[in-house]
Amino acid sequence: MSEPAGLSPRNTTRGRPRTTGTDVCARCRRSAGKARARWPEGKVCGPCFTVATRTHGACPDCAQHRLLPGPPHPEGGPRCAECADIPHDFRCSRCGNEGESYRRGTCARCALRDDLTAMLLADPADPVAIGRLVDVLCKAERPESIITWKRSPTVQTLLAAISTGNTPLTHEGLDDHIQTAGRAVDHLRALLVHHGLLPYRDPYLARFEIWIEDKLRPLAPEVARPVEHFAKWHHLKRIRSTATPDAPARGPVHSAKQEITETAKFLQWLWDTHERTAATCTQQDVDEWRADGPTTRKQIRTFFVFARNTRLNTSVEVGHYTARTRPTLAQDQRLAWLRELLTGGSESRPYRVAGILLLLYAQPLVRVAALRTDAISIDPATAQTAIAFGARPVPVPAPFAELLLDHLKARPNLRTGVAESPWLFPGTRAGHHLHPNSIMDRLRSLGIQLTGARNRALDDLVTQMPPPLVADALGYSYQVAFLHANAAAEPWARYADISRQR
Ligand SMILES: [Zn+2]
Ligand SMILES: [Zn+2]
Ligand SMILES: [Zn+2]
Repeated sequence: MSEPAGLSPRNTTRGRPRTTGTDVCARCRRSAGKARARWPEGKVCGPCFTVATRTHGACPDCAQHRLLPGPPHPEGGPRCAECADIPHDFRCSRCGNEGESYRRGTCARCALRDDLTAMLLADPADPVAIGRLVDVLCKAERPESIITWKRSPTVQTLLAAISTGNTPLTHEGLDDHIQTAGRAVDHLRALLVHHGLLPYRDPYLARFEIWIEDKLRPLAPEVARPVEHFAKWHHLKRIRSTATPDAPARGPVHSAKQEITETAKFLQWLWDTHERTAATCTQQDVDEWRADGPTTRKQIRTFFVFARNTRLNTSVEVGHYTARTRPTLAQDQRLAWLRELLTGGSESRPYRVAGILLLLYAQPLVRVAALRTDAISIDPATAQTAIAFGARPVPVPAPFAELLLDHLKARPNLRTGVAESPWLFPGTRAGHHLHPNSIMDRLRSLGIQLTGARNRALDDLVTQMPPPLVADALGYSYQVAFLHANAAAEPWARYADISRQR
């Protein structure tokens, strides 16, 4: 090839340092400046050397699992140093792992451990805990990045405070440094949570706790007490037990705040107007409050369910109001949403598919999220796509079948270490499917009323098929299917209490 060097396609590659000099790297054929190493194939440039000293695997010649610094090989890939005749010992003099030597014959990981030991373990307040912290920092995928990170003065101050015990190794301890070392704190917290040294703490949940305290402060004690019980025992406890990295508490915290706010407004009004409390509140008080004012006032319902369950007040019944306004989506709205989700644009494909399953088949999101790929089948004779939610598969109509099959072929999050995920909606964590709350949040943020959409879909289905068939096909109990048959046919009664599960 007599291509002028300056026009070679390799030289147009971005992101690699250009070096000037007369040496040419035997691997990449670029001018190597000062060659990093001289190996049997010739001079090797810095970038190629770095790649070579980070490539591990089974050597195709000797079958040992070790560093493979050898040159690219047409058969089976690169070889280990011995099989490739590279006369260099890549072993760390401390731990024996093969790689690039970072400092005087030791690898970056061992160099990092030396530094951290000198910095944190000279006179630690709690040697066991600080020892674990050092272990966690040394586990970093790229120890070089922690070496750089810990050079920053803010990081050194933070780590020193932890070592001396002035800052306890807890979320609250780290919170004290947010003002002065925000990003360093975030990074350290993420590492500690990832390695199990601190429990997962949802960021929305942490702010929610502060919000509750702020909310209670201006309230009269007679009002504050029940609101506090409701906020902490009902909402906080429930959200704490369900928030995970895959299902952040954003949505649940949002609706909890609304219910707490409405409850506080009502109880403050009740105290100011009638000098009655949550315990002495009457049915008439609730009716009066809800007779006028905005529709958000209906959100005191959950509080009275809580009050009943905790025996704080068993005489007030808010349920039947909700029943009268059982949410359903108008049919034209449902069709508009189906069209929107089918033609796309507003959301990424997995969420569009999930939304359509809800709108077409009235599937609860808990079940949508947990669908397996084998729920989908194609009839070899008719080429009809079908999906199974219950005992028998139901047909998938044409425009949606195409979208569903496209999604099936190119599901996201397949790079999390599991080659063949069994889930139709694989989550970001290996082996898990998407959390229903994530789907719920995304669909809600589009403005789809989930309960209304599902009720509408189920009502329509039972007008097309006898309820027991619907129940079989869609995995509902007969009781629920018959209730929907009633709802579609006649005025609704007390539905909401039964269908509150999502
Ligand atoms: Zn090179
Ligand atoms: Zn080998
Ligand atoms: Zn080492």
